[in-house]
Amino acid sequence: MEYRNTPDFARELDARDLLKGYRKKFFIPQHDGKDAVYFTGNSLGLQARTTSRYVQQELDDWARLGVEGHFLAKNPWLPYHEIFPGQLSKIVGCHENEVVVMNQLTVNLHLLMVSFYRPNKQRYKIICEAKAFPSDQYAFESQARYHGFAPADAVIEVHPRDGGHTLRTEDILSTIKQHGDSIAVVLFGGVNYYTGQLFDMKSITAAAHAVGAYAGFDLAHAAGNVELHLHEWDVDFACWCSYKYLNSGPGGVAGVYIHERHSVNKELPRFAGWWGHTKETRFQMEKGFEPIPTAEGWQLSNAPVLSMAAHKASLDIFEEAGISNLHEKRKRLSGYLHFILDDINGRQEKKVVEVITPANESERGCQVSMLMLKRGKEIFTELSKQGVIADWREPNVIRVAPVPLYNSFEDVWRFGQIIESTLQ
Ligand SMILES: *Cc1c(COP(=O)(O)O)cnc(C)c1O
Repeated sequence: MEYRNTPDFARELDARDLLKGYRKKFFIPQHDGKDAVYFTGNSLGLQARTTSRYVQQELDDWARLGVEGHFLAKNPWLPYHEIFPGQLSKIVGCHENEVVVMNQLTVNLHLLMVSFYRPNKQRYKIICEAKAFPSDQYAFESQARYHGFAPADAVIEVHPRDGGHTLRTEDILSTIKQHGDSIAVVLFGGVNYYTGQLFDMKSITAAAHAVGAYAGFDLAHAAGNVELHLHEWDVDFACWCSYKYLNSGPGGVAGVYIHERHSVNKELPRFAGWWGHTKETRFQMEKGFEPIPTAEGWQLSNAPVLSMAAHKASLDIFEEAGISNLHEKRKRLSGYLHFILDDINGRQEKKVVEVITPANESERGCQVSMLMLKRGKEIFTELSKQGVIADWREPNVIRVAPVPLYNSFEDVWRFGQIIESTLQ
């Protein structure tokens, strides 16, 4: 598409946007009496206007029914988590029996590593991206130590080449090949939180399998953002949070995918709890854990219904908007942002913004990470003053993520406009 850096052009795109009505379904934070430009949906997605109704329903049923709400609530709490796989399996691309909603992200990452990181003397390494999200780094490091391995030896990070910011797929694949049968698990982000780079999960999975290792992904920045086909790619396991692109509220309940060839394997070691036990005999309260032969078999606790209600409110909106429509708009919107930044650079004497997120559409999602080459902090302060909510990462990166559900092309244009006027 031919883009132009003018307000009329941006408004024209908004007018033609099939999803334009969805912005009204969200609370947009206000700045000086106007909608802020909210570009941190990659950090905490906005609240849908319907969320309170979903949560209130459960509060009302709790008030009305007490414990009987487990069976008699409008949405009975006992099987509450069972409402998710239908919708979530479409978002992450898997079968319904391969997905479960439970706990929070880092907890789930550990639970999955209990099953899929079982190192021995020969095969003990974790291959990951350098600069993974800190929680993941701590998880990898502590898991290695827990099994008696030195993190410096067991956790192998793939780094960008000199002068680069993102990873080359060929370097990821050759690292896997090089470490070969000393690898227990290859555990990457789907989209790196800092650079916004989308990794080639299909190739990484195939390379891991070729050396006899498991392949898992932390999809915190990928779920609800980019196209995922976890089952088709043959990914072994994955986890994600629901409060970033999935708009389900601060600290919201998280999601897990486990390939069905693993979930039917009752011998696969895991940490067990009563909610993962076969439903038919769960309430006999007897000894002897019998896992449910689906991803549900990894559940520990009964459903956190209030947080799940907020998740349900959000997923209903994803379903209504249609995941493929969302991907289409996402590509146009982030394409427009890349264009605007190029345009700004082109009109300065020297480049002011280096976009470190890959320009190639197949290697990124919504997020654009901008390395500020000149007056970065000043520009960021001015953006904040003028009602842009973005994210600053030391030493000088601004991360922004225009999301298809509630951001507009005009948001993107305004963002560029503020940068240009600050530079002048
Ligand atoms: C956001 C994020 C987390 C946060 O973990 P919580 O357990 O939800 O606090 C972890 N890993 C990655 C990759 C993230 O992007």
